Amino acid sequence: MRKIPFSSAMGGPGDCIFCKIVSREAPSNVVYEDDRYIAFLDIYPFSKGHTLVCPKEHGETIWDMKEHDIADLFQVASRVSKAVVSAVEADGFRFVQNNGEAANQVVAHVHVHVIPVKMEDKGRFSDRRRFTPAQMEEIARLVREEMAKT
Ligand code: 5GP
Ligand code: ZN
Repeated sequence: MRKIPFSSAMGGPGDCIFCKIVSREAPSNVVYEDDRYIAFLDIYPFSKGHTLVCPKEHGETIWDMKEHDIADLFQVASRVSKAVVSAVEADGFRFVQNNGEAANQVVAHVHVHVIPVKMEDKGRFSDRRRFTPAQMEEIARLVREEMAKT
């Protein structure tokens, strides 16, 4: 298997921001978690409700995961997408899953982006957005509420 390169500046498991989110050493707006997966709002979202779904166990790319764990990751991501789309009243969503620095993977801990899209934004290039901490928590609350219904 060909190796997927990362810059050494990206750090290993001991210095991984998503591992710190899992352990609560770093804050985030968690919308879902179970014993193996966690979902939280992206700090610098492409759209309102942009969520990241991760395995709790550190691995850099999807190739570091067992195939049945990849299946479970996307099953969780699918459930999360339903809650996110309902919470922000979107009309569709994107899954984005970057592997390797060359693919613009910035955080070297496997994650699936769930990016809700509204019809009015169809075909438009979306810029990163910023929401206040209070707005982020309110979005997270709405997603959690929808997750509880699934
Ligand atoms: P990648 O480019 O690696 O696929 O995406 C990494 C994502 O993680 C980016 O969209 C970025 O905004 C998000 N991100 C980076 N650092 C943090 C953080 O500390 N907290 C949260 N919630 N998201 C982060
Ligand atoms: Zn990690």
